[in-house]
Amino acid sequence: MTTSDRAPESRNEREQASGSGDAAGRERDLGWMRRAIELSRRCPPSATAFSVGAVVVGADGEVLAEGYSREVDAVNHAEEAALGKLPAGDPRLRTATVYSTLEPCGQRASRPHPCAELIVAAGVPRVVVAWREPALFVEACQGTALLTGAGIEVVELPELAEEARAVNAHLVG
Ligand SMILES: [Zn+2]
Repeated sequence: MTTSDRAPESRNEREQASGSGDAAGRERDLGWMRRAIELSRRCPPSATAFSVGAVVVGADGEVLAEGYSREVDAVNHAEEAALGKLPAGDPRLRTATVYSTLEPCGQRASRPHPCAELIVAAGVPRVVVAWREPALFVEACQGTALLTGAGIEVVELPELAEEARAVNAHLVG
């Protein structure tokens, strides 16, 4: 009896499995991000917070959870809303990707843990974002640095940044 076939996958194997880097993987990422942008349009508008959508997708392409800003309460963030629908320690999170229209926050006043910390705590290995947080509510968003510092792969889809930003035209013009 061997244990080698149950050894955790290396980071390299995980990246190959998630399809990052190949054209089909990029198309999949763009498709899920378009879904996240759709969700961001459901956000109750706020003069002091962005409208963001998030989708958590399992390794097999199954939607595990969706969320959008202020879905649950007035200060709710999209990633928080989505992750909050899954039980803590859900094993599917360990191979999942979080798609968020905006870079996850690295600091926030309204909750003890910013979304980047929630994603790290959930054990999610991969995050895809469309739009980098502009210096509007916080000077320089540390979300991406926090995620990559924890070993999480962060992929940016600049081709959808304008669409994600446009949902926030009331804030950023
Ligand atoms: Zn957040």
